Amino acid sequence: MIRSKNTGQIIVISAPSGAGKGTIIKKLLENNSKNRWLSVSATSRKPREGEKEGVNYYYITEEEFKKRIKEDYFLEYTNYAGNYYGTPKEYIKEKITKGIDVILEIEIEGANNIKKLIPEALFIFIMPPSLKELVRRLKGRGTETNEKIIKRFNAAYKEVNEVTKYNYVVINDEVDNAVDKIESIIKAERCRVDRIEEVYLDTKEEEIHELLMNDNFDNTGLGDKI
Ligand code: 5GP
Repeated sequence: MIRSKNTGQIIVISAPSGAGKGTIIKKLLENNSKNRWLSVSATSRKPREGEKEGVNYYYITEEEFKKRIKEDYFLEYTNYAGNYYGTPKEYIKEKITKGIDVILEIEIEGANNIKKLIPEALFIFIMPPSLKELVRRLKGRGTETNEKIIKRFNAAYKEVNEVTKYNYVVINDEVDNAVDKIESIIKAERCRVDRIEEVYLDTKEEEIHELLMNDNFDNTGLGDKI
């Protein structure tokens, strides 16, 4: 009766650094590795310990980044806490066409730019349970200088106020709980009426009329079997 679009959707996930989005996204990918794809961004930031080229980011110089901006390589890009970050255009359309959801793990300015380009994308904001917890997580990472942590905290604090621009907000008090909520949001989005492409009759009108008029209508569907 109803045919909905079977294309994938763009899922934008933002969170202040330290809100725990990395772990959440990893779980979302594990839950549905065939139908979900995480876009790997390019950045001019130096790799943190344990990060891998092509997995966490494509690490390029600031000069190379600026060159790619000119070449229209990015769907969106921004300068965040002194470093450039950008989403390569490559592959996104192909994945969406194949029915694969594309996750963009980007900050707020980038999310705003995606909203202008693709308003039907799904925008989810992950919140830390409290600012105190945010500081704890930022410091606990132990990978950055105090000055950088303060810069990130200030950026994060500003970001929290932007939450109303998103469609959904999920508080990351407990990872599995947050993942469950995001799974429900993704499922619900697939049922949105604006994804309907066609409403059609799957039974001939005469047949429906006959069924409506027939007093002995067999609503069991078992026919003469029993
Ligand atoms: P981090 O340095 O902690 O990996 O990332 C800093 C911020 O940049 C995070 O909020 C992250 O989501 C965001 N980010 C990562 N890649 C991109 C991107 O391609 N575009 C934008 N706009 N933000 C990004």
